[in-house]
Amino acid sequence: MKFFNNILKNIIYFFVSLIFLLFSNFSLVDSNSMSVFKPVGLDEEVESIKTPKTVNDVQEKETQSQKKVAFLTFDDGPCINNTLKILNILDKNNIKATFFIVGKKAEEYPDILKKLFDDGMCILPHTYSHEYKIYKNKETYHKDLMTCIDCIKKITNKDVIKYTRFPGGSFNAVSNKNRMREIRESLKEENMKYVDWNVSSGDALGDGVAAYKIKRNVINQCKNKDIAVILFHDAYYKKTTVEALPDIIKNLKDSGFIFKSLNDITPEEEDSLVKAKVINR
Ligand SMILES: [Zn+2]
Repeated sequence: MKFFNNILKNIIYFFVSLIFLLFSNFSLVDSNSMSVFKPVGLDEEVESIKTPKTVNDVQEKETQSQKKVAFLTFDDGPCINNTLKILNILDKNNIKATFFIVGKKAEEYPDILKKLFDDGMCILPHTYSHEYKIYKNKETYHKDLMTCIDCIKKITNKDVIKYTRFPGGSFNAVSNKNRMREIRESLKEENMKYVDWNVSSGDALGDGVAAYKIKRNVINQCKNKDIAVILFHDAYYKKTTVEALPDIIKNLKDSGFIFKSLNDITPEEEDSLVKAKVINR
């Protein structure tokens, strides 16, 4: 009897040791190679963290790429009373937006421009003077644009600038049609892209356009768009733009938009905006 008890004890001891060994050092079956008892190495664990493989990860990736994108753009700033209010709303919502700057305003309020830049906003040239006489010929236009670019570079140390926005848009009615075409072509030759918009807030139609109208304009025009480039103005008399902004952001978020600045535009998004005649129309 004692002999059989000893054999039973040894058998139990053997199996307990085997189970302990299996769980402490080895995985039973490696799903990639199907080999039995392959040790789990650190590299594989790190690799599996880097490479999303689960169904959830893939779905998450697809949802990201299917998201609608809104580029909020603000022309004509910086200004003394509204720019920092706009920035505060953007920061609270963790949104990066694009500011097309008026050079002579930047010279007046360099600290405000620097604050926009330091908070990660995309700073681009609009014009130095914002006077329509810049469209007299392509030389006067380029001189004005270069002066604006120099102002921005001096204040922000930003080195690469490859987008601009024409005062009044690339097909403005102020300049002679042929002269405007010549100016547009000369920009392309210099690899500078010009950006218009496909959603207008309508805040340029007067000073103090009612906030509800600005909201309505933006929300209506964003429907059925996958990429919205939205025109706002950051200027002294545009306080209703600031009032409308929080509700506009909330509505667009609820409709599935994510927000980007032109610093983060992808080549695919740019192609799509070129086709839609929003960039280099
Ligand atoms: Zn403007």
